[in-house]
Amino acid sequence: MLRYDDLNDISDGKLYTEDDMVCAGTNGCNGCSKCCESDMGNTIVLTPYDMYELTVATGKSFDELLTGLIIELSMMDGIVLPNLKMSEGCAFLESGRCEVHAHRPGICRLFPLGRIYNVETDQTVKKDRASAAFRYFLQVNECPVKNKTEVKVRDWLGIEDLEKNTSFINKWHRFTDFEKRKVNTIREMTDNEVKRLENISEKDLEVYAGILGETDIYEIKGYKDYKEEKIASEKQTSEEKIKKVLKTVIAYFYLDKYDIERDFYQQFDIRLKKCLAAIR
Ligand code: SF4
Ligand code: SF4
Repeated sequence: MLRYDDLNDISDGKLYTEDDMVCAGTNGCNGCSKCCESDMGNTIVLTPYDMYELTVATGKSFDELLTGLIIELSMMDGIVLPNLKMSEGCAFLESGRCEVHAHRPGICRLFPLGRIYNVETDQTVKKDRASAAFRYFLQVNECPVKNKTEVKVRDWLGIEDLEKNTSFINKWHRFTDFEKRKVNTIREMTDNEVKRLENISEKDLEVYAGILGETDIYEIKGYKDYKEEKIASEKQTSEEKIKKVLKTVIAYFYLDKYDIERDFYQQFDIRLKKCLAAIR
């Protein structure tokens, strides 16, 4: 994930709000589709809003997009999220044009802008605003168009009801942070328990086996084998817990098809509450 310190290397060094003017206009890209046909790795990460929009554009469910190799799941900062599959260019690129242009993912809308989170240290940021936690920046090394035109950030994004969308992005970002912390906590607790078991004395392990009602098993297996079995079991349980968290998030926000006749933001808020209750 991009850090605040990396910004000077890739941007013009400025941060923009949605109402600032920025030299990002690519004049309709003039037949260039470099962004869409290059292998961008797993960088075009899809938010639940992107998923809703892709369902509107294609009528396809998450599963159908996944099995159609249009999207894929990737591990990012310890959690699993979907992204456009870009290894052979984007599947939505047809004769140099984006088939889902009006409903393209947020990252596609932004380009050549980027978005950075956690800029609370910036004293100019008003914390009471929905957008307080992030700002936009202009990537200077990616798009070759010379003499880009000035555009207002909100016009460039072209998202209906940007304030609602910004509020959603903030909630989503905070939620994925929570998910990462949750996964890290499970890992840390397991690491501590594994370390404890690795260094446990024979006497303490025998007591431990007794507490678990496994004195007989301990006597049959002996100190070394019983200890190894417990360590392996700790690790397995931890991986299962982590998988459950990751799967639950994908199920609530992506797998469960959105009702495109209903407002996205309401559906998201309901799913957020349910998912938080399920993984807490
Ligand atoms: S590289 Fe620039 S001009 Fe080419 S498709 Fe991307 S944004 Fe458009
Ligand atoms: S969704 Fe559209 S804009 Fe985004 S990478 Fe694919 S073709 Fe390009």
